[in-house]
Amino acid sequence: MVSEQKIADVSFESLLRIFTIPEGPDSTLTQIEESLSKNLNQFLREHIVAEEKPLHEIEKDFSSAAIPEQPEFVSAHTEHLLDTLVSHSVHTSSPSFIGHMTSALPYFLMPLSKIMIALNQNLVKIETSKAFTPLERQVLGMLHKLIYSESEPFYNKWMHSSEHSLGAFCSGGTIANITALWVARNRALKADGDFQGVEKQGLFKAMKHYGYEGLAILVSERGHYSLKKAADLLGIGQQGLVAVKTDEYNRICPEDLKHKFAELKQQSIHPFAVIGVAGTTETGNVDPLREIAAICAEESCHFHVDAAWGGATLMSDRYRTILDGIELADSVTIDAHKQLYIPMGAGMVLFKDPQAMKSIQHHAQYILRKGSKDLGRHTLEGSRSGMAMLVYAAMHIISRPGYELLINQSIEKARYFAELIDKQSDFELVSKPELCLLTYRYVPENVKLALEMASERDRDELHDLLNQLTKFVQKKQRETGLSFVSRTQLNPIRWSGRDTIVFRVVLANPLTSTEVLSNVLDEQREIAQSATALTSALNALANKICD
Ligand SMILES: *Cc1c(COP(=O)(O)O)cnc(C)c1O
Repeated sequence: MVSEQKIADVSFESLLRIFTIPEGPDSTLTQIEESLSKNLNQFLREHIVAEEKPLHEIEKDFSSAAIPEQPEFVSAHTEHLLDTLVSHSVHTSSPSFIGHMTSALPYFLMPLSKIMIALNQNLVKIETSKAFTPLERQVLGMLHKLIYSESEPFYNKWMHSSEHSLGAFCSGGTIANITALWVARNRALKADGDFQGVEKQGLFKAMKHYGYEGLAILVSERGHYSLKKAADLLGIGQQGLVAVKTDEYNRICPEDLKHKFAELKQQSIHPFAVIGVAGTTETGNVDPLREIAAICAEESCHFHVDAAWGGATLMSDRYRTILDGIELADSVTIDAHKQLYIPMGAGMVLFKDPQAMKSIQHHAQYILRKGSKDLGRHTLEGSRSGMAMLVYAAMHIISRPGYELLINQSIEKARYFAELIDKQSDFELVSKPELCLLTYRYVPENVKLALEMASERDRDELHDLLNQLTKFVQKKQRETGLSFVSRTQLNPIRWSGRDTIVFRVVLANPLTSTEVLSNVLDEQREIAQSATALTSALNALANKICD
């Protein structure tokens, strides 16, 4: 009853209480913790993707801009969070959530993550992190070895060296890519004669000194949008991020890469970095890394591999050859929060050369002293959490062969799903899975036939209708909340580069069964057939073409 409810008060005494560690199993906070865990477990067990509640309804719960004047009890606020936030969150752990690179987590990370929050270490400097610093350096060493397979003496020498760094741990692939390109830029515009280096004198003086009209970074058309941010931030400009043509498998064309080098140099624009993508975000394809490496060696250009998503494939002895040549890269980005199943906020960039990060080294007096082991000397970010401990724990608990099983099952499941799609008379596989990502769309059987026979103009029209249909089905499926696939737009060579909207599936959750996959197709077929206006327009046009 409301009248009997106690009201929380604002007093210093109650503030002291919230900083006091609860004692005993009967304390209120211990009980809240227990009930919260139960509630979250129930949420994680549910096999739906989201409650069917429109966003504008949810926004009503988050509409006040006023900071509360009246404090709440933790218990009451926990209830509030469960009602308004948890219950309307996306079940990224659901086996039928197969649309994004964000996936289910192994459960042991929930209790272990308490260590990170409870200890609240700051990895920017050794004074606030102690054991976490060597742990993070070891994690970077593990990932470095996974890519570059250097010898034991190499790691003995460099892993904990105060003057060196094998890489940087950061919040994600975006920061990792920026860091790699920052290093590449500073090395390309290093001190020389009177010139003190771009980090001291800035881009304008650097360009004058080196006689460049501009700088460029080369990446395939399928490069991630984070690279645009990097080009912008580093003063290269988004137009300095030059797109290289891709082939029918969405892989960079080495011939066009060479051609772009020649073109740029003719305009006195200096291409200082090439990015190979190992697992494109939209189609999951891997660039021919060895060939790119050879071109970069010839051009004396920094070779970065964006393996944010696909890098974890190196854990699999069976499939790591897909990333052949990655060991030739000067730097590599890997996100542990993608295929290494770590919670969000775990990106890494690794450098082949332990000296490479010297070009971005920073010092400050009260912190980051010269000769200290402070990780902050080589990171773009300042204060950082002890996230690396979760990577460390997962490496030990799951182990390399365990990760191999996870990677193998996801790749093999994607192949299975591709075959299943191929067998349907009314679906079209658009990009075959190289790793565990594939794209496809719904195309009624008679429309398939019509597409083959149609004139170019009719084909445009069919494509346009199919695009609308794919968009409709994807939205409807998401809103219904039983399952989730994402969508993107591709320009397949098979359809003469026409804008083609497709469903995009990323298969990471080991609990996603073949039955879930069949259900996803059934649901999409059903939704498509319910879109009567679109399907009858498609039918009419198809009949006209086939007559
Ligand atoms: C996810 C991804 C990124 C960006 O990583 P964030 O962790 O989202 O910052 C960059 N490149 C590729 C290829 C990716 O898949």
